[in-house]
Amino acid sequence: MPAARRDLGLIAGLAVLVWLAIERTETCDRIFAWIAANPDSEADSLVLALVLAALGVAVFAVRRVRELQTAIRARALAEQETHRLAYHDPLTGLPNRRALSERLHEAERFREPIELVLLDLDRFKTVNDIHGHASGDRLLREVATRIQAALDTGQRAFRLGGDEFAVVVPGAIGRRRFADPLAGRLVNALSQPFAEGSLVHHIGASAGIARYPQDAPDSAAILRAADVALYGAKDGGRNRWLGFAPEMDDQIRRRAWLEQEIRGGVAAGEFEPHFQPIVTLVTGEIVGYEVLARWQRADGQQILPDAFIPIADECGLISELTLSILETACLRTRDWRGQPTIHFNLSPTQLRDRWLSEKLLAVLARTGFPPQRIGIEITEDAIIADQENARRVIESLKNLGATIALDDFGTGYSSLHNLRSLPFDRIKIDRSFVRDLDRGANAQAEKIVRGIVSLAHSLELPVTAEGIESAAVARRLARIGCETGQGYFFGRPQPNQAEPRKRIGVARSGAAAAA
Ligand code: C2E
Ligand code: CA
Ligand code: CA
Repeated sequence: MPAARRDLGLIAGLAVLVWLAIERTETCDRIFAWIAANPDSEADSLVLALVLAALGVAVFAVRRVRELQTAIRARALAEQETHRLAYHDPLTGLPNRRALSERLHEAERFREPIELVLLDLDRFKTVNDIHGHASGDRLLREVATRIQAALDTGQRAFRLGGDEFAVVVPGAIGRRRFADPLAGRLVNALSQPFAEGSLVHHIGASAGIARYPQDAPDSAAILRAADVALYGAKDGGRNRWLGFAPEMDDQIRRRAWLEQEIRGGVAAGEFEPHFQPIVTLVTGEIVGYEVLARWQRADGQQILPDAFIPIADECGLISELTLSILETACLRTRDWRGQPTIHFNLSPTQLRDRWLSEKLLAVLARTGFPPQRIGIEITEDAIIADQENARRVIESLKNLGATIALDDFGTGYSSLHNLRSLPFDRIKIDRSFVRDLDRGANAQAEKIVRGIVSLAHSLELPVTAEGIESAAVARRLARIGCETGQGYFFGRPQPNQAEPRKRIGVARSGAAAAA
């Protein structure tokens, strides 16, 4: 375009020069005088033709310039569109990871103080797995809308891919943190239910915040620092936000160390089963034991499962760990008096293993333990993660003669659908409700326990209550109609067979109601 313009200018300039020259030399006057003096020469027609040709050239030039202008506009639009595609997420329309990375570079180049909020949805995968990708896509668009609605002027949201989002908050001045209130608003906005037709999704989000330049020397480090903070927020129970702190790096290092230790511990056989008795509430008779993992370290320390099961689960060691504990448990309890059933816990990731039932069967065959004496406890999130495979595994375990309990009922989705869709044999009420039975404001807890028990009974499923710490609670549960129970009152988890405890005396105070 500039070339065409230059040409036009040149032609116009030339025309003016020629005109001036003609004016100066009075050429026109001379030509007209000559034409007038020689009327037979036809030179007047020639001049007319020349003038018309010049006009034609001028019209052509203007049209050409117009055409060029249109082509240039189209090219600029195409360029804009390519840029938009390269820097935006097509699903939500938000700028993408590349755009964020350039924004961070820009901040670094101009030493502009900024805060970065990283957001990660908490249960998005479940929605995607159960309701399909179309549903997941709609949810992500709605998430993007809520994020943008929470922003103040100057704050910009990005989608980094999957269920990860980010917001750049400019202008962190001194100790003032603009990102903190924003992160609070975001976590809150995303914890509200999402309605989609007749469905309601409950997801939630965790957020991590890092500040440049306080928390990180450059643009790559700020992303990492925010990620570390996000990880801390998730680890601390999700649905919350955390600002980066240098100690967090130490925590991550500690975790990596723990992972190594667990690996070594599994290889060295440091994981052991402990057994907690499960009793019939009314008679106090022991009917089985729950197998609970304990880590007996070489240095004499004993570590409880909450400190290693989640890590073993994440780093892919859970299967090996559980199978080795099961093997020891089978060997140790095989000849216990009364032939009690042993109940062990399976984590959600284990239930996704297609070969799980074959692996369990191999352990039972090796140890000569009858499958009918095996009970398996699974939580609802295990079913949600992959219902089809869960069903397959559960059915093949049941075919062996094992029984299946739904563990921690009341804490998760507590869905009737889950209860009915899979062939459970028993429900376990989570110990948080049982604990509350013993407290001052326990009318609510009692209502919940009654509700769960009557729901279970309407499906003809017996109920086990866990976490019973006193005779009073045991009696109350028996009166409500709970069949079996476990807890420190009846016996703590220990490495060998427990002595049966005395009856709790429900027979006298309300056996009729319990029976
Ligand atoms: P859970 O399945 O809910 O197991 C019951 C937990 O309640 C056990 O904690 C037990 O020691 C504790 N408990 C029992 N009676 C009482 C009581 O009267 N009061 C109180 N406050 N607590 C009581 P533990 O042994 O620390 O295990 C924690 C969780 O770790 C278990 O919860 C289970 O989900 C998991 N876990 C344990 N062993 C294994 C395993 O071998 N594999 C898998 N996947 N998970 C396991
Ligand atoms: Ca359990
Ligand atoms: Ca439980």
